[in-house]
Amino acid sequence: MRISVDNDQCAGIGQCHEVDPDLFPLDDDGYSAVGTDREVPDDKQEKARIGVDSCPMAALFIQE
Ligand code: SF4
Repeated sequence: MRISVDNDQCAGIGQCHEVDPDLFPLDDDGYSAVGTDREVPDDKQEKARIGVDSCPMAALFIQE
């Protein structure tokens, strides 16, 4: 599984980061620093789904 963010949609609200700060890092301005192709460890897949679902801007995506 991989995750990505559309930085045009990210509003810097930070819910994703609260779910898992390692999976969903923020930049210095509070916007997502997930990038476009972030590998998710096997033991973090459920957390990744929760974090992606938590984004109120629907800015996060999963590639299986
Ligand atoms: S929850 Fe969504 S809007 Fe907020 S920082 Fe994460 S990706 Fe951006």
